[in-house]
Amino acid sequence: MELARLQPMNLPPTFHILAKPTGAICNLNCKYCFFLSKEQLYPGSHFRMPGDVLEEYIRQYIEAQQVPEVNISWQGGEPTLMGVDFFRRSVELAEKYKQPYQTIQYAIQTNGTKLDDEWGEFLKKHNFLVGISIDGPRELHNTYRVNKGGQGSFDQVRRGLQFLQKHKVEFNILATVHAANAGHPLEVYRFFRDDLGARFIQFIAIVERDNDTGFQEGNTVTARSVTAEQYGNFLIKIFDEWVKRDVGRVFVQIFDVALAAWLGETPSLCIFAPTCGNALALEHTGDLYSCDHFVEPDYFLGNIKDTPMIELVASDQQRQFGQDKLDTLPRYCRECEIRFVCHGGCPKNRFIATPDGEPGLNYLCAGYKAFFNHIDRPMRMMADLLRHHRPPAEIVQFLALEEKKLQEAFARANRNDPCPCGSGRKFKHCHGRPKS
Ligand code: SF4
Ligand code: SF4
Repeated sequence: MELARLQPMNLPPTFHILAKPTGAICNLNCKYCFFLSKEQLYPGSHFRMPGDVLEEYIRQYIEAQQVPEVNISWQGGEPTLMGVDFFRRSVELAEKYKQPYQTIQYAIQTNGTKLDDEWGEFLKKHNFLVGISIDGPRELHNTYRVNKGGQGSFDQVRRGLQFLQKHKVEFNILATVHAANAGHPLEVYRFFRDDLGARFIQFIAIVERDNDTGFQEGNTVTARSVTAEQYGNFLIKIFDEWVKRDVGRVFVQIFDVALAAWLGETPSLCIFAPTCGNALALEHTGDLYSCDHFVEPDYFLGNIKDTPMIELVASDQQRQFGQDKLDTLPRYCRECEIRFVCHGGCPKNRFIATPDGEPGLNYLCAGYKAFFNHIDRPMRMMADLLRHHRPPAEIVQFLALEEKKLQEAFARANRNDPCPCGSGRKFKHCHGRPKS
């Protein structure tokens, strides 16, 4: 009660911070990594979060959360380079500062290469949710995810994942979609599902600006970046397989977000929400930035040792950062049929022009349009199931029955009949066309 009274008026009840205890330092040298260049922001630093910053962060963060479940998330660079003891201390501090009504959910995003039995035991004991960065089977993963010597990291990641599985640690896969794997959607998805036994998967598009600063500047992208069309097609191919067999068994983040939007909810993932600004980044020094993708001088809010974190989060600068996402939406997006689920995407990717020349359209727009329009019908069906208190997984049987009926109709159709698929073409020019 006392705390609530002290909260600034425009502080959200909860917000999220990605803390980077090693700053940009990583043992790998992934070719597309946007964060490695951030090392230049801290010349001469040892890139290790000191104990006093750790304690300030945990204390201030927990005290600012007005919700019963508090998420503490670690990211990098590579956070496991801090060693297990750093995280033991972070758990002790969280237990010390949490309110009796609060539970703490820990998460860590890692490249997996440093994981071993000690990590496995620790992560399991404290129920960490571990995000593993892996881009697909060996050859696809190794194209860009290389170590400092330029060698692919697949075998070390796979080994690290085995420690998580051995200790029954909950993990999700964070896969980036880029020029090398974008053409292999089913190979990538099936590898995660069947070979790794993954149940939670995120697909993040690599849109890498081609400049020397590492900042969100310029409007050209590197050859490693995925194109909008490739990204849309990648998601469509995986969705089509998922919706016919994996609903309720495998959870793909963008599919879940979409289903919530089709149910009429506001997307919870910041990139698809109308405004943002509630997902900040904390550097190893205690410096707080507006977002993980904007660790740049222009988006520096202050240091939590000098200014209370709640003041930085509630500052006009940060509120404006989040509001700009909505205020800068071009007319093309405002009139878009799928705005309800897309909301123009992440501002970091809004650097192309709309067809009528207005700046600020998302580089991935064509992919989002293709994907979200493609999934409209099955999303409506799953949303309907949920509204009737039935599991969305029932769509799997429904689509199987529909497919069976269609095949039977094909078998009965004459050459000059309208094609049973509903295309409006004659059967002989559509599904009845002899296969070459
Ligand atoms: S800039 Fe993008 S990633 Fe950052 S908070 Fe906003 S929507 Fe999310
Ligand atoms: S699909 Fe394209 S036009 Fe539609 S809201 Fe998203 S970015 Fe804007």
